[in-house]
Amino acid sequence: MAAGLGSLLRECPLLLPQNREGTVYEGFLTAQGRDFHVRILLPLDLQLKNARIQCSWHLKKLLDGYQQILKQRLQHSSNLVSFMMELKTILDVALKNRQEFHASPPPQYYSALIENIEILGWNKVLFVDPGFNVIRLKAEDSCGRDHLITLKFSPKYPTEPPDCIVDLPVQFFVTWTPLSSLLSIHSQFLAALESLKEFWNALDEIDEKTWVLEPEKPTRSSTMRRIAIGNNASINIEVDPRHPTLLPECYFLGADHVVNPLKVKLNSNIHLWDPETSLLQNLKEVLEIEFPSREALEKSDFSMDCGICYAYRLDGTIPDQVCNDSRCGQSFHQACLYEWLRGLPSSRQSFNVIFGECPYCNKQITLKMSMKEV
Ligand SMILES: [Zn+2]
Ligand SMILES: [Zn+2]
Repeated sequence: MAAGLGSLLRECPLLLPQNREGTVYEGFLTAQGRDFHVRILLPLDLQLKNARIQCSWHLKKLLDGYQQILKQRLQHSSNLVSFMMELKTILDVALKNRQEFHASPPPQYYSALIENIEILGWNKVLFVDPGFNVIRLKAEDSCGRDHLITLKFSPKYPTEPPDCIVDLPVQFFVTWTPLSSLLSIHSQFLAALESLKEFWNALDEIDEKTWVLEPEKPTRSSTMRRIAIGNNASINIEVDPRHPTLLPECYFLGADHVVNPLKVKLNSNIHLWDPETSLLQNLKEVLEIEFPSREALEKSDFSMDCGICYAYRLDGTIPDQVCNDSRCGQSFHQACLYEWLRGLPSSRQSFNVIFGECPYCNKQITLKMSMKEV
């Protein structure tokens, strides 16, 4: 241990033994020209792997994220000196990473940004974080809809553009030169909003005049709607944001006797689709139906709820299994129906299809499990 102590003094001159047994060392560790207070507690057998390191709050914070490496180094270092050398190396790396992380932007960053905001107008700014790293702007499209754009700045602004976070159904790319400003991002955003005007007009009409089952609270980027039709059936549409009045991708959900005639209508009336007319109007004409409003449907005995758990949403899923008997048509969650059918002595399974009886009408019902749940 005497030789060890000699080299310890040489390598870490500020770390000194605190007792005769050599189980406590205290002092300072130097890295990047700074001294950090440490205390090392060794067990009586002086085994390094059971050592404890106590350090100042500041050092602890710096070494946050390096605990695993430290633990591993403690296990493998042959003696305290070699461990202290490792600790010094780790601390060097931690300090360097931290400096890069905290590199503050040049002074002209703030003045450039504030000048930018003044040109744009503070009335368009909804939020600025205290460090001027995040700015949220609002923009109103020509139909009076409000939109938000969140900008995350790097210290290299304005050489590099900020990251733009938007709620659009298409990707938003900013054309940027080091001479560009917030005003230019804002006007590019307005242009993007304008190009999506027809898309939002189409979906706003649907959201207003039909009962949209999903998404529960559609965002501006959401291109999908599941619309209630009645008779426990619904249609799912996926709208192309660039061509919102063209025939969207559709599929139906419900009992065969309700859904099959609609599929036939869709196929035979497809020539009636008129891109000059609104999406909702086209859907009505092609399917030859009126979409019932939520109020009207809720007054009738229409229910999209699961016939087993009586809820609509279950762990984020909606009832997408339907009894195909024309007098029943009850819908169920896949998970609920699966549990129900498995509990029936008369049910049988073939690959991912389970055959059994509907809990409502006792007619045959089949459940096709999606692959992930088999
Ligand atoms: Zn259920
Ligand atoms: Zn049934």
